[in-house]
Amino acid sequence: MSKRQAIKNFIKALIPVKFQPYVKLTARKIYFFGFKYKCPVCRSQIRLLKPLGFDFPVIKEKQIVGGGLRNAMCPVCRSSDRVRLLYLFLRNNTEIFTKQTRLLHIAPEKPLEEIFQKHKNIIYLTADLVPENVMQQMDITNIQYSENNFDAIICNHVLEHIPDDLKAMKELFRILKAGSWAILQVPYSKILEKTFENPSITSPEDREQIFGQKDHVRIYGKDYTEKLRQAGFKVQEYKWTEDRDLNNSSNKLALNEDEVVFYCQKK
Ligand SMILES: [Zn+2]
Repeated sequence: MSKRQAIKNFIKALIPVKFQPYVKLTARKIYFFGFKYKCPVCRSQIRLLKPLGFDFPVIKEKQIVGGGLRNAMCPVCRSSDRVRLLYLFLRNNTEIFTKQTRLLHIAPEKPLEEIFQKHKNIIYLTADLVPENVMQQMDITNIQYSENNFDAIICNHVLEHIPDDLKAMKELFRILKAGSWAILQVPYSKILEKTFENPSITSPEDREQIFGQKDHVRIYGKDYTEKLRQAGFKVQEYKWTEDRDLNNSSNKLALNEDEVVFYCQKK
């Protein structure tokens, strides 16, 4: 064990378990304090961002938004640029934090999960195909809920893993209440007109080289919104760069300029 780890363990042993998360967060806030960025998720002033994402050539070549290696992770709450954008979108453009909302969160991002759990108006269900760290196991191409069940669904960076993505989109549409919404983010290419997929590419190595991640089955193109519409959704693309409130402080929030929010409504 390194000396640093030994010191960490020694300090940890002195703090009651109940307070450990709070102490850890506070310690990180102090250690990473600075004026360069401001994380809206954990409300920290931070001096740097940490790297995240992958560095396969195809990501650059196809200009895949939301996939490449970049400095974009808050060192305090570990939110990515995507999570910060979503949090701001939800806070500014939906009633999720004020109105009673039955929310299904698939493959939940930890920083968002922690925020949702704190809000008593949110009736919260987390789910994933692999039942680890979620409330319920769920195959989103075959969902065990009846139609018109949820006020909101958040399902980010999941569809690019699913061979029959249209079936998954239709299932999400089915269980959503009429008049409700879903946010369905995916990594997408800025330059591909049409989504590229090839079911014969199955090995993790080939998928890394061709799709940019070992478990992706496609690269979405500009037709992604058309696919969502085919499933029944009315789709609005929210561009934060056109939102004056956010654009004014964009440098500090460290958002991805190209990332749009796919706000999908069931009318
Ligand atoms: Zn943060």
